Amino acid sequence: MQGMMQDLYRTDYHVHTERCGHAGGAARDYVLAALSCGLSEIAFTDHVPLYFLPGEDPDPALAMARSELPGYVEEVRALGEEFAGRIDVLLGLEADYAEGHETALQEILAAHDWDVVLGSVHWVKGDWIDAPGSGKRHEREGTEALWGEYYRLLGKAAATGLFDVLTHFDLPKKFGHRMPASLARAEAEAVAAARAAGVAIEVSSAGLRKAVKEEYPAPLLLKSLVAAGVPIVLSSDAHAPAEVAWGRAEIIAAARTAGAREHLSFRKRERRRHPL
Ligand code: ZN
Ligand code: FE
Ligand code: FE
Ligand code: ZN
Repeated sequence: MQGMMQDLYRTDYHVHTERCGHAGGAARDYVLAALSCGLSEIAFTDHVPLYFLPGEDPDPALAMARSELPGYVEEVRALGEEFAGRIDVLLGLEADYAEGHETALQEILAAHDWDVVLGSVHWVKGDWIDAPGSGKRHEREGTEALWGEYYRLLGKAAATGLFDVLTHFDLPKKFGHRMPASLARAEAEAVAAARAAGVAIEVSSAGLRKAVKEEYPAPLLLKSLVAAGVPIVLSSDAHAPAEVAWGRAEIIAAARTAGAREHLSFRKRERRRHPL
C-alpha cells in the first residue's frame, strides 16, 4: 500500500516559453521553478512554428517564427547542460497536427533530436478551436460539428505515428462546451486510434485553469483511455514559470482514480515507465 502514495519520479511534460508570444517568462525561469517544485525532470514543449500557414511568422501571438526554431533547440540543450545533475531538461515540441501537411511536419521533426514530440489538434475546420474567442465558434458552427471534426482529426493525428503523446484529448470543452452525447462514438474511435497507434496521452492540469474547470481528459474519458492500455504522461501546459507542476496533486489523483498505475518519461523519443 505504501507504494501507492509515493511520487518517486516527478515530471512535467508540457511547458511553453515566451517564444510563442502568449507565454511569459524566460526558459531558465521555468527550470528554476521546476527545481523549486522538486521535479526530477522538465520537458520544454514550445509550439511548433505554424508550418501549415503561409509566411515566415504567420501568427506571432500563437507560435515562434520558423527562423526561431534552431535558437529554441540550442537554448533548451544549453539549459540541459547547465542544470545537469540537478534536474533533467528535455527537448520537446508541441506540434500541431494539420491534415494534408504531414510531410512538412515530418521535415521539421527530422531536423532536431527531440526527446519527446507532443501532437496537438488546435486547427479545426480552418480555424483555431482553443484561441481566445474560439468559444464563439460553437454558437456559429455548432458544438456537434466541431467536436466531431476534432475527434476525426485527433484519430488521424494518432495514426500518423509522428507523435509520442497526444495532448489535451478533449480540448473543445475548453470554454465550457461539453461534448454532445451523440458524439460518443467519435470519441470511442479516437480512443481506439490512440490505442492502435501505441501513442501516449497527457493528463493535464490546464483545463482546471480554464472555463471548463476540469483536467484533460475528463474522468470517464481518462478511464476508458487507461482501460484501453493507453499510457499517460503528467503535464501542466504551463505558460508561465509559476504554472510549472501546477495542479500536480489533482492530476495524479485523477490518473489514479482512472486506474493508471504508471506514467512515462522520454529520452530521444524512447519511453521509460515509472510507478504512479
Ligand atoms: Zn500555448
Ligand atoms: Fe495545445
Ligand atoms: Fe501547450
Ligand atoms: Zn497546449
